[in-house]
Amino acid sequence: MEWEVVIGLEIHVQLNTQTKIFSAAPTAYGAAPNTQACAVDLALPGVLPVLNGQAVRKAIQFGLAVDATITDQSVFARKNYFYPDLPKGYQISQFELPIVANGKLEIEREDGSTKVVGITRAHLEEDAGKSLHEDFHGMTGIDLNRAGTPLIEIVSEPEMSSAKEAVAYMKKIHSIVQYLGISDGNMQEGSFRCDANVSVRREGETELGTRTETKNLNSFRFVERAINYEIERQIDVIESGGKIVQETRLYDPDDDSTRTMRTKEEANDYRYFPDPDLLPVKIDTELLQELQATLPELPDVKKQRFCDEFGLSQEDAIQLTSSRDLADYFEQAAAKTNGQAKLVANWVLGELSAALNQNSISVSESPIDTDRFTQLIMRIADGTISGKIAKEVFQDMWNSDKTADQIIGEKELQQISDIGELEAIVDQVIKDNPQQVEQYLSGKDKVFGFFVGKVMKETKGKANPRQVNELLKNKLV
Ligand code: ADP
Ligand code: MG
Repeated sequence: MEWEVVIGLEIHVQLNTQTKIFSAAPTAYGAAPNTQACAVDLALPGVLPVLNGQAVRKAIQFGLAVDATITDQSVFARKNYFYPDLPKGYQISQFELPIVANGKLEIEREDGSTKVVGITRAHLEEDAGKSLHEDFHGMTGIDLNRAGTPLIEIVSEPEMSSAKEAVAYMKKIHSIVQYLGISDGNMQEGSFRCDANVSVRREGETELGTRTETKNLNSFRFVERAINYEIERQIDVIESGGKIVQETRLYDPDDDSTRTMRTKEEANDYRYFPDPDLLPVKIDTELLQELQATLPELPDVKKQRFCDEFGLSQEDAIQLTSSRDLADYFEQAAAKTNGQAKLVANWVLGELSAALNQNSISVSESPIDTDRFTQLIMRIADGTISGKIAKEVFQDMWNSDKTADQIIGEKELQQISDIGELEAIVDQVIKDNPQQVEQYLSGKDKVFGFFVGKVMKETKGKANPRQVNELLKNKLV
């Protein structure tokens, strides 16, 4: 019996406003506990929330980017529950009338096909504070710096059918919010996190199975692993005669499993109702038009343009456009070379990305700017150095301020362009290895590589491999 998997994601994105969604306290990350919480965030009696217009603009920008409807009059609602890091006793969120509804997003599957995933809604809300357990023995500390930080919660339709699809969807949302510049998308700092709803059903069944929700996944890898664990667990339970219980679960990265946090019976009844302290949010067409007109080129459009304009493969274009900074770097470098976009793409995705990853830095922090990078590409393109030597030059560039030409000059790395000089080396190698010559001439083709290796070694890698091959072929007869 085959199983079908159904996944819907709820993604929380922290908006990068200067101040909080309902107060003037700053939102910067990493300040000493409770130094960025004002009277509103502390819920002192008599305070009133004032909506941050920037948060509204950013939520609308997201809605426009996913072809959603922007609600003319959205409403803030109180979501009531008790928790020590929520001093008001309720979270201000949106319930019946979210600011963004009915969007859609295209994702690329592994086999190269695409799929459209529906976005049910995206609503504005405030984040809660943080409970600190580690530094307090037998007690809990409360840090309200994060309380009131603006979020959008993006809820998908239950339309993804594998962990890979869910990750592709999450990555697409991640790149969109960064292209829009509405969030830093920093997952380590919690600016981008995801709850994964998973259910399974037997193939052909039309009703959805009972789902579980695994909370607070803050990396793409965790999302993939948590979902795959959940799929297997649910199938196991059903196949051994059990029933899935609708519940909230927690993922444990240490052993890659999920465990029960609370079941439906324990679930809160939030008693949502419109917040009487806040007016409905009315969006006029002027604002919509302004935001629509200033929307940047988004990843899908950029990807297609890279394919059309630079002749890149879909795969390369997808990778290059996964981050706006990477796409910009590629495009700047490509513009400075003459028709070498493909080579630029290879080096951006190869050597440069590897070095960035190894040093855990982003492309905007790359020690090699596009000017120096482009010069290196041109030296490969015009045959001054081989790709292999170029990797050595790249490493030197990474660790210094020197240009490719400086390094090539200082270390005398130019390929040997004088064919006579190369010929002399080839002759010498043949003369010095009569035994191998005999083997080769008696039919041992593999020995050819030995000669190529010798010549490359003699020339310290500076010979043009194509020329070496030609010379050897002509002389070894
Ligand atoms: P809640 O308000 O309890 O979180 P929602 O109906 O808003 O519930 O759904 C939350 C998320 O769960 C959505 O992303 C939705 O697509 C997903 N979802 C709902 N039902 C299922 C199901 N049976 N299997 C998988 N995902 C589901
Ligand atoms: Mg939910």
